[in-house]
Amino acid sequence: MEFKVEKKRLIEELRQHGISERVLDAMRKVPRHLFVPERERSHAYADYPLPIGWNQTISAPHMVAIMCDLLDIQDGMKILEIGAGSGYHAAVMAVLAGSGHVYAVELIEGLAYFARDNLKKAGIDNVTIIVEDGSLGLPDYAPYDRISVAAAAPDILDTLTGQLKVGGKLVIPVGRHFQELYLVTKTNGLKKEAKGGVVFVPLVGKKGFK
Ligand code: SAH
Repeated sequence: MEFKVEKKRLIEELRQHGISERVLDAMRKVPRHLFVPERERSHAYADYPLPIGWNQTISAPHMVAIMCDLLDIQDGMKILEIGAGSGYHAAVMAVLAGSGHVYAVELIEGLAYFARDNLKKAGIDNVTIIVEDGSLGLPDYAPYDRISVAAAAPDILDTLTGQLKVGGKLVIPVGRHFQELYLVTKTNGLKKEAKGGVVFVPLVGKKGFK
């Protein structure tokens, strides 16, 4: 297997950070080197973001892992991702969702092609990449069990909380330059928990940053 040593080292690092065995297992199954451009391949298993073109980045592995752990993704769930980028984060969620499905929205058409191609090479078939403005969510397939937002939003968007099932969970980075990562759980109301500081590229579009 390619990058076997590098991948093993990364998984061990993430384990030290307290990531669950379930998420580590999913990350072990997804070949991250197939989700980065050729010239970045030697860094594919380093724990930092990498450029994927169009001024965008694939998130650092620990960030993908933390967000997946916060969402507590179970088999059979229907998941929405905003900001598909390379498709890597969607792929890890798709493994966790098993018989479920991930709908991943991406605004940049070129990246949507990149993500579809990467997912195909990785043999992951329960992700659909859709070119749309994800700041409005994706009403076509709503409501969702889980929503994961991979770009910095101005607020906890009600377009997204409105598309969550009761009992559903959303992770979303909120803020312009630096963000707080929020875990939002929908019950009768919305329970909002701050989970620490993060840095993401901005969410653009109708409900994003101008
Ligand atoms: N999850 C990705 C990384 C995402 S980077 C991965 O695993 O590789 C954030 C992405 O959000 C970028 O690709 C950017 O184009 C996209 N984005 C920003 N605003 C958006 C919007 N309103 N709708 C959909 N995608 C958006």
